[in-house]
Amino acid sequence: MPVPEVTIASQCHQCASIIVDYSSAIEVRGRVYCCNNCRLIGRGQLEPGVPGVPTCSHCSSPILDSTSMVDHKGRPYCCYNCAAMHMSAAR
Ligand SMILES: [Zn+2]
Ligand SMILES: [Zn+2]
Ligand SMILES: [Zn+2]
Repeated sequence: MPVPEVTIASQCHQCASIIVDYSSAIEVRGRVYCCNNCRLIGRGQLEPGVPGVPTCSHCSSPILDSTSMVDHKGRPYCCYNCAAMHMSAAR
């Protein structure tokens, strides 16, 4: 059995979404981001509100890396973690 790299529940350092899907999560120097989009913002390489770029319906992050993007009921989310946050909040 492979040992998971992250064994405790974590929150995105950028948008505070709880990480439930570690396939898109990225850890940088002990800080966990829900996906590459939040990592880019956290590193200051991405300005919020880039024209023509869809933004996450939960955390408003510009979705430049669409590999982790999730579409839920016609709304874009930067990753499954944000989509899950929205689903659990809108019960
Ligand atoms: Zn995030
Ligand atoms: Zn995300
Ligand atoms: Zn998001």
